[in-house]
Amino acid sequence: MLKTKAYAAQSARSTLAPFEVERRDVRDRDVLIEIAYCGVCHSDIHQVRDEWGGSLFPMVPGHEIVGKVTRVGARVEKLKVGDLAGVGCMVDSCRKCDPCRHDLEQFCERGAAMTYNGTEMDRKTPTYGGYSTQVVVDERFALKIQPGVDLTGVAPLLCAGITTYSPLRHWKATKGSRVGVVGLGGLGHMAVKLAASMGCEVTMLSTSRSKEADARRLGAHEFGLTSDDATFKKLAGRFDLIIDTISAAHDYDKFLGMVKVDGAMVLLGVPPQPAPVHAFSLIGGRKSLAGSLIGGIAETQEMLDYCAGHGIVADVEVIPIQKINEAYERMIKGDVRYRFSIDAKSLR
Ligand code: NAP
Ligand code: ZN
Ligand code: ZN
Repeated sequence: MLKTKAYAAQSARSTLAPFEVERRDVRDRDVLIEIAYCGVCHSDIHQVRDEWGGSLFPMVPGHEIVGKVTRVGARVEKLKVGDLAGVGCMVDSCRKCDPCRHDLEQFCERGAAMTYNGTEMDRKTPTYGGYSTQVVVDERFALKIQPGVDLTGVAPLLCAGITTYSPLRHWKATKGSRVGVVGLGGLGHMAVKLAASMGCEVTMLSTSRSKEADARRLGAHEFGLTSDDATFKKLAGRFDLIIDTISAAHDYDKFLGMVKVDGAMVLLGVPPQPAPVHAFSLIGGRKSLAGSLIGGIAETQEMLDYCAGHGIVADVEVIPIQKINEAYERMIKGDVRYRFSIDAKSLR
């Protein structure tokens, strides 16, 4: 076993503090990744604070992991020592069910092994995430990262990147599609960059007037202030696709009013509370209200290659792990531009 320095929460009420975990010895198909950076996702906060229920403690969060491969098992083919690699939200799945065979491991019928706050497929061994110095993962769930990229900004692609890329592809966002992105945080800023790179006409829908200039710099063509009711009137029936990344409770009906006939609103944000939706918001325009969860491993690789080809990385504020509790408080206030990326050197 490999002793590994980490940061963990011991309960839903405790802050994150130093902790040590044991990683398994490298098996035939495993790679050992020395972690360089790990992005901080709002899902880390939801789970550390047990806002969705069922959290497992101690919890080492982190599912936006990048680093260098330092050891490989005898039968590993995809990666070699010295390669850059990433790990996202999953570390395994059953590999046999229908979704797994169709590259949709996130919907594995047995439940994928999540990178943290979960178990390996033996359903016993707890998983620990990327707020740590190293991780051991089966090569099938490791992603290849091209050399020469800014690793601090690549880390958030492993969750925020794929979570926004996948629905843009699935709902066929393309040149000229009118896309509204709700909430300018980690996911939101990636959605803007990606949709703009695909030629979509992007409108940023935000509660923060102070983010307008950034939204435009990131690629948004228009900005709508959602704390002003006039915005909902002005943009009624406007969008082919709305990507909703809000992490807290809000009124879905209001946003559905901005979807056009046959358009869709896709929920990515997971507020802790359920929310009512009026049937009239959907039937008067044959609209869809849908959701999307990260993306499969093949699509995650496709997204990383797409971003490398288009020069897309996340905008990050690099922090030492010692600032993680403060970073959570800032994220909850919407005060992050636009993703924290933990420098794993601070853990060593
Ligand atoms: P984040 O960086 O904190 O961004 C969330 C943004 O939502 C904020 O910047 C803010 O944008 C807006 N917002 C926050 N509170 C709000 C409120 N009370 N009312 C209106 N707007 C509010 O979070 P993130 O990491 O992007 O994650 C966003 C959500 O997606 C979280 O719930 C997370 O768990 C979920 N998530 C889902 C998946 C998936 O697979 N579906 C994957 C990753 C994350 P403005 O300042 O612009 O208004
Ligand atoms: Zn995430
Ligand atoms: Zn499966």
